[in-house]
Amino acid sequence: MKNKNIDAIMAHITELFPNPDPELKYDTPFQCLVAVILSAQCTDKRVNLVTEGLFKKYPDSVTLGRLSQSELEKEIYSLGFYHNKAKNILALCKVLNEKYNGDVPSDPETLESLPGVGRKTANVVSSALFGANRIGVDTHIFRVTNRLGLVDAKNPLEVEKQWNEYYPEYINHDAHFRLVLFGRYKCKAQKPDCENCKLKSICKYFNEKVGK
Ligand code: SF4
Repeated sequence: MKNKNIDAIMAHITELFPNPDPELKYDTPFQCLVAVILSAQCTDKRVNLVTEGLFKKYPDSVTLGRLSQSELEKEIYSLGFYHNKAKNILALCKVLNEKYNGDVPSDPETLESLPGVGRKTANVVSSALFGANRIGVDTHIFRVTNRLGLVDAKNPLEVEKQWNEYYPEYINHDAHFRLVLFGRYKCKAQKPDCENCKLKSICKYFNEKVGK
């Protein structure tokens, strides 16, 4: 069911994060896609440390796609899951070069069909780069939307479906990144800052679990 406090919640989160730029650094759609793939199970800060040098040497799918699996693994070793990430990125380069002239397709469904690109990544990238109104449900958005009672969902796909049904007007680039930042810095997984949170009076989690 739609949460009647959605306007108040989004207004407060907007106040906290007025300029919700993504923390990942990139210059092109291709670099954005690679950075998002690399960010799985890793912080954006660590990804930026690696991609700064990586994208200088290999800025596009042609140059990056020339690396061998072991060469790319060495470049991204510190980011975890480097074997699978390297394998996916090389497969991605191959498909982009062969089918899309090195460009990143804008359509979320096509993006999701690319190697290493799941639904969350497709939604995040199509929203960040091409203005698609898609919510990419990562761990932060999953937690925050459930805690606030904006959705009542057991998995990311359910969050996306309920969000699309209840709040279509809020699905945009800024709302996505604001919710991520709110989860990352305020409504943290382990120690949410409930005491100082202005949403606690209307927060389902706080009222059911913390402030009883
Ligand atoms: S009251 Fe606590 S759980 Fe609720 S939104 Fe605020 S920080 Fe998150």
